[in-house]
Amino acid sequence: MNSRIEVFLGDITTLHVDVVVNAANPSLMGGGGVDGAIHRAAGPALLEACKVVRQQQGECAPGQAVITLAGDLPAKAVIHTVGPVWHGGEHHEARILEEAYRNSLNLAAANGYHSLAFPAIGTGVYGYPRAAAAEIAVNTVSDYLTRKPLPERVYFVCYDEENARLYKRLLTQRGQETDA
Ligand code: ADP
Repeated sequence: MNSRIEVFLGDITTLHVDVVVNAANPSLMGGGGVDGAIHRAAGPALLEACKVVRQQQGECAPGQAVITLAGDLPAKAVIHTVGPVWHGGEHHEARILEEAYRNSLNLAAANGYHSLAFPAIGTGVYGYPRAAAAEIAVNTVSDYLTRKPLPERVYFVCYDEENARLYKRLLTQRGQETDA
């Protein structure tokens, strides 16, 4: 099966894709985890671009997404999306996480981008349980790609092997295993 989804184990800032998705916080002013790594690798131009978005639109609510340039990253653009803070699962966390993935895909497609890389949104400081988050990521992206031509290719970027195994298992279950 010629899948449009791949699992990549490593640092998202190194990927030569059209769009890197950032697991941002509502301020869009950078932070720890993948957000910090992306801002460090992209350089000061990214923070400047985020400040402009902040001035124009205010904070980015959980589940929403905004797009900026990518500074020094090999990518062409960064989509900043905000995941839910995990409060036990009864506070719309699943719906918000699903929206974060779907709004990022919509924004990439609307800008004509062909390839996009997601980190495991919400599973770091925000505390979303990894297996449940991976299931939402795989299901939301797979469903989206069956309906839409863009983005053509999506990478799930895992920072450790355990998470990569989790994603690969879920993709195999959906018949979308890749050789990555
Ligand atoms: P959130 O605030 O949405 O929980 P975090 O940045 O704290 O976001 O964590 C999200 C995920 O990104 C975690 O699984 C973490 O291991 C992973 N991560 C951290 N740095 C990188 C990186 N450079 N490339 C890819 N993934 C990363």
